[in-house]
This record gives sequence, structure tokens and C-alpha cells, in this order.
Amino acid sequence: MLLRKPKKRSLDTIEYAVNNRKKNSLVITTGCLPKINNACLPVYENLIIVEFAEFSKLDSIISARKKFTTIPDAGTISSIPDLHRKPSLKRYFKYLPLSKNRIQNLFFSSKNFIRNAMNSPVPSLPFMDNDIYNVMIARGCLGKCSFCAIRLSHGKIKSKPLGEILDLFRDGLQNGYKNFVLIAEDSGAYGLDLGSTYPELLKNIFELNSDFKLVLNDINPQWLIRYFDKLLPIFEKYQDRIPYIILPVQSGSNDILKKMRRPYKIEKVQDCFDRLYQTVPSIKIKTHALIGFPGETYDDFIKTKNFLKRYNLLETTIYEYENRVCCESAKLPSQISAKEKNRRINILRNELTHTVHASMFNN
Ligand code: SF4
Repeated sequence: MLLRKPKKRSLDTIEYAVNNRKKNSLVITTGCLPKINNACLPVYENLIIVEFAEFSKLDSIISARKKFTTIPDAGTISSIPDLHRKPSLKRYFKYLPLSKNRIQNLFFSSKNFIRNAMNSPVPSLPFMDNDIYNVMIARGCLGKCSFCAIRLSHGKIKSKPLGEILDLFRDGLQNGYKNFVLIAEDSGAYGLDLGSTYPELLKNIFELNSDFKLVLNDINPQWLIRYFDKLLPIFEKYQDRIPYIILPVQSGSNDILKKMRRPYKIEKVQDCFDRLYQTVPSIKIKTHALIGFPGETYDDFIKTKNFLKRYNLLETTIYEYENRVCCESAKLPSQISAKEKNRRINILRNELTHTVHASMFNN
């Protein structure tokens, strides 16, 4: 789900890039917007739009000497922090026929450009999160969430073969990294397009060696429910090596989950959480809650609040629902006013005792 503020920021950044580009240069834009709302993108003579699924078009646009498809994980630098992560940069730049100095120069000029374009601070340190090694395990998802535009741009899940993932881990381990993060839009669906499963992936990764920690991102609750008997022993056995797990619940109301097209019942999620906390009391779980979804009654909201209060969560990220023209949920009746959404979010902020973030956008 991409909301209004990030959309405006993206459009402002594109405009800045077009206006401040060097003479005879092009601006190439990609991400979700071209797919989900092409109409909102400005038309500039030197602006080229490339959709996620068309990255290989970049080869001819920039006359690439090294083809896009021959660089492992080439499409996974997708955020500003990624650009500033040493492991990410090292991984990509080693494929480029450029000197160390040239790479440093590129890095610093891109950092300054991004800082100006985004009108937001970029850390002055040359790299951040030096210690974190991201591993993209899949793109796309098997969800049909009515509020989500991401699935429209990424499509159905496409998992990376296990061998490639293990090679990335070996590469990270050989280079001394101790903290890894699994990245995917719908991690729990990993492998279903390859005849494999997420628990199998975790088992293979943890068995590589015992000297690293692994953050588990974005396991949608339907996968926790489906694989619970396989995941629980893994979470228990490797609890000291899992800094946290992100399980985005979104709502505590079955009526709202149904309207969201989230394929699970809250009672089943609750049962898994209860058993998880009983077996592994020190488990650290982060979740997401989407507040103010169309039709969310106060009673629905209280159900969400009660779910969040029931557990000793590490963190909840609250997203304020906003319509996206391309999403089914924009057409639903009983839209919630901005004032009421704010009020509900403030109630959560005041009443939840664990860390609460209010964020601008969700995946
Ligand atoms: S919210 Fe996640 S699971 Fe749902 S459609 Fe979007 S990417 Fe897929």
C-alpha cells in the first residue's frame, strides 16, 4: 500500500532530478508508481519510466557493459538505506569494471543528490548498518489484499532457488557478517512456486553455521497458521539467533480482515501467538496495524486494540489507511474520516505500552 505522502515525495523527487540533471543526461524512474498509477507521473522529455518487471530494459538505455540479469540480486536496491549499506554496495559494485575511487565518488555524489532531492537527511557516515546483510528471498506475493498496490507492481511470488540463497549467506559469512535479514513482500509464501516451503528455507539457513543472527520479516499470519507446527520448533531451537520476527496482523476484527481480503481469522492468529509466547516466552514479535480501513467500526477498532494489548509485543507499526485509486478498498463504502482515524491512532499511542510507530506507508 503506497499512500499519498510517499507518492508526493516520489513525484517531488522526480521533478528535482529532472530539473537538476546534468546536461545531456537522462532520468530513469522505477518503483511501484509506473505500474499502479502511471497517469500521475509527469511527462518530461528526459524522463524514462521502467517498471519493476522490465529492469532488463535498462541494459539498452544505459548501454550496459554488464547485463542487468547477470548481476545477482540487481533489482533489490530499492530504498535509500539500501544505497548506504556497505554489504549491498559491495555486492553490486564487485560486478562493475570500476576502480575503488570511482565507486567512492559515485557513492558520495549519489548521497548528496539524494539528500537534496529527498529534502531529508542522509547520514554523514559513508555507510550505515554496516553489520546488516540483506538477503532477498523472493519478490511478489500470493496475497490479494484489497488495500495493497504493491502486488499490482510485483505480481505473483517468484522465489529465489534455495541454492542461490545459501550462496548469498555463505558470501556474507565469508565476509564476516553476523546479522542477516530475509527480505520479501510475503516471506511466508517463499518456495511455493518452486515446490519448497518457508520452514524448509529457515532450517537450511540456520544449519549453515551457528554464528549469525537472522531477522524474519513479513510473515503474513496465514503462513504462520499453515506452518505453525513446523515453525514453532524452529523458533524455539533458534530463539537466541532470531532478534525479532515481523508478523503483520493488520486488524483484530474478522469483519475487517475479510474486507481487507486477509485470509485468516483472528482467533487462529491468537491461538498461534498464545502457543508461541508459551513455548518461547522471550520471542520478540513486531506487528503492523492498519487503522481506519473502510467500514471499521469503533468496535472493530477495539478488537484490534485488545489484540495488540494482549501480547508483550516488541513493536507495533500503525498505518493510517488512505485510499489508493487502483485498489479495491477505495471503492468500499463507509470511509472513515481523517479526524476519527487520528483519534483511534492516538488511543493506540496512549494505551499500548510497547513501542508504537505511526508510519506513512506499508508494503
Ligand atoms: S499486503 Fe503483502 S500479502 Fe497483501 S497483497 Fe500486499 S504484498 Fe501481498
